[in-house]
Amino acid sequence: MLVEDDRRIGPLVVSALREYGHEVHWSTTGGEALDTTRTRPVDLVLLDLGLPDIDGVDLCRRLRRDHPETVIIMLTARGEDMDVITGLESGADDYVTKPFGMTVLQARVQAHLRRIPSLAGVDVIRLGDLEIAPGARRCTIADVEVPLRAKQFDLLERLGRDAGRPVNRDTLMADVWDENWFGSTKTLDVHIATLRQRLAEIAAVAESRTGRALRLPRVATVRGVGYLLDPPGLAGS
Ligand code: CA
Repeated sequence: MLVEDDRRIGPLVVSALREYGHEVHWSTTGGEALDTTRTRPVDLVLLDLGLPDIDGVDLCRRLRRDHPETVIIMLTARGEDMDVITGLESGADDYVTKPFGMTVLQARVQAHLRRIPSLAGVDVIRLGDLEIAPGARRCTIADVEVPLRAKQFDLLERLGRDAGRPVNRDTLMADVWDENWFGSTKTLDVHIATLRQRLAEIAAVAESRTGRALRLPRVATVRGVGYLLDPPGLAGS
């Protein structure tokens, strides 16, 4: 849930988070936020502290008291150190300083959601028309199955979990292969190459089947670091 009265920021945050597969409810007042948490489960709250009806810090305290499991990330203005301190004291788990980029926000949200056990195992990673279902170990592009070998799937899933953020080579080697891997990391580049190729092949099939331009993430090389699954841009951009 996003709690934000600013009507310019709200839609940007909502569409960016939906882009990454999150279900987002936007509340523009503190009262609406409290109503929402009474009627539906909320895993994470993005809370602007400057609200028209309720003091953001008071709201944070009430949310924390009524929903101890919910992650609360405050949105604060740059230089408002007191807000950060008061917010964290009132039960917020983290904060993001305005103005923020959507990639940074998404990365922060994802990092917190990953720690929620009930979400860790069953989540489906949706990036535009690409879906990665870790539980079923299936990857699809616009419902067309992408046949992947085990390591290709693991690699895609690992990159997908941090979509929008570069994952360094050592992390990929450790998470997808073996922590004690001491051989050449050439195998990583080979797997990336075949993964890109397989995704491109299926994208072409899916595109001709659906007859529309698909929105897909890109496996990008980040020089000197590793790789990044770059999510598709927002619709219309
Ligand atoms: Ca505000």
